[in-house]
Formats: sequence, C-alpha cells, structure tokens
Amino acid sequence: MERLKLGISACLLGKKVRYDGRDAYDSYLIDLFSPYFQLVPICPETEAGLGIPREPMMLVGNKNSPRLVVIKTGNDVTKKIIAWAQRKLKEKEIEHLGGLILKSKSPSCGLKRVKLFKGKPPPSREGKGLFAQSFQEKFPFIPVEEDTELQQTQQRENFINRIFILYEWRRFLQKGKDIKFLVDFHSRFKSSLLAQSQKYYYQMEKLVKQAQHFPLEEIIKQYSQLLVKALSLKATNKKHSYTLNYLLAFLKKSLQPEEKKELLDVISSYQKGEIPLVIPITLINHYAQKYNQPYLQQQYYLHPHPLQLKLLNHA
Ligand code: SF4
Repeated sequence: MERLKLGISACLLGKKVRYDGRDAYDSYLIDLFSPYFQLVPICPETEAGLGIPREPMMLVGNKNSPRLVVIKTGNDVTKKIIAWAQRKLKEKEIEHLGGLILKSKSPSCGLKRVKLFKGKPPPSREGKGLFAQSFQEKFPFIPVEEDTELQQTQQRENFINRIFILYEWRRFLQKGKDIKFLVDFHSRFKSSLLAQSQKYYYQMEKLVKQAQHFPLEEIIKQYSQLLVKALSLKATNKKHSYTLNYLLAFLKKSLQPEEKKELLDVISSYQKGEIPLVIPITLINHYAQKYNQPYLQQQYYLHPHPLQLKLLNHA
C-alpha cells in the first residue's frame, strides 16, 4: 500500500538548502516518520529561486501582512515567495499531503514565534513564516507542526492523531458528502474526539443528531470547524482516563468480575502514570473482540496506526 505523504522543510530532511548552504538534518524526526510516511521535501526559498547560498532574511512590519526582506540590503522578496507559494499550493501532490513538518524560526517556514522586526529592536515573536501562513490559509484541514514541537511527546501524538483523523475527514469531503458517511465518521472517531475535548465532542454529537433537520452543507461546515478546534487541543492523561472509562461502560455487563477488576486496575495505573496508554487500549480492544462489541470494535481509538501505537507506548 502506498504510504501517506508528509511535506517537510527540505533542510530538515538533510538537503543543503539553508541560506548558508548547510542543512538542518533532524535524524530523530526522520527516523521516526520515514518508515511510515513518504517524506516530500519543500524549500520555499530555493524553490522560489533565491539561490544557495543567499543572504539571510527577516520578517518586518505588521504581523498580519509581514514582508520578507534581506537583512543586509533591505531587498524585499515577499512577492517572489508569495507568487511561488500560490503556484506550489496548486500542485496535486501538495493537496494530497497528510501533514506538513516545518522548520521552526524560519521567516519562510516557521509556524509560530518567528522574529518580527518592527521599528526598534528587540523584535517581537509574533511572526509566522510566509509559506507557513499561505499553506494554513489554503489547507486548514492539513495538520502542520514545527520540528521543535514534535520533540515533545504530547505534541507528537497530537500531530499524528490529527493527520489520520483529518485525512479521513478530507476523503469524506472529496468523495461527495452524505449524512450516512457523516454519522459513520462520527461513530468511528467518537472516542478519539472525546480524548481530545469533551466540550467539542458533545457539541459534535449534538450536531450529528440534528443533522437531518438542517442543510447538510451547513452541518458539515459547523462539524469541520468543531473538528479542527477539538484536534488543536492536547489529549491529556486526564482526558484519556475519562475516555477509557467511557469505553469500559460498554463492557460492564459482559465482563466477568475478575476481568472488570483487572481493567479498572489497569486504567487506574495508567491514570497514575505507571503504565503507558497502549496497555489499557489493548486490553479494552481484547474484551471488545471477546464479547463481540461492534461499537467498540469500530472505534479508531482502539486501533491506532502503528506509528501511534509506538508513540502511545510511554507512561
Ligand atoms: S526556506 Fe524552509 S526549507 Fe528552505 S532552508 Fe529555510 S527553513 Fe529550510
């Protein structure tokens, strides 16, 4: 099966495309992601024709419409990068990316806290790279994260989760929408959404229940907004514990007393940080099969992608 594609700042992949002709190879991220995804290098500055090596650049002006200028000469290359980004973002390969990993701090690629010069120093940290900005505006349903954020366990888990859930959502949007698919999608991802945000989960639940009384386009628009908001939050130990107890409720009538005790003990150990999440998930999955619980069996939360499984394997 063809692997899902992830875009990545080319310098992180080891391409010598930085302004000084060097790379910013990130062996940790590449080793982690490359077995599961096809990594597609993107370098806005060199692809826009700025050359290697080149003079370093910075963002200046207003945070809503910053300009990219060469530090030494003040030469403004904003139009060049924006024009390239507009062409690049029309490519089919880009449209079908599962996610995008960007180099932090770069005035082209940085996603947040990029130095923005306005008047006297010091610069603010309100800037966002020009390419990062264009990409997010054009593809709100493609998850984007910076290399430094992905060094952190929860951010990494959240990124992977967003990739797979939003990829399924985009397939739905592309396929031709109908209520049945919306209900199926929501059913399959219920537990995953609950682990992200109870608040948004219950709003989405309500929306799906009312779906037949309102125009489908409007329901989908609102569902999309809630989905993106829910997935932008972190799934914490507390939220996972709530979700595990929610799943346990479906098994309570079937479980033998000793099985129930074992499962409760395992959930409690996870809650205390003594064991990784993958253990209660595996156990609930086992009982869902043993007692033939179709609702639980279809939960994406209980069948994470192999990469997620690996990431869930920490206490
Ligand atoms: S523009 Fe982006 S990909 Fe290119 S060198 Fe700079 S940070 Fe790396």
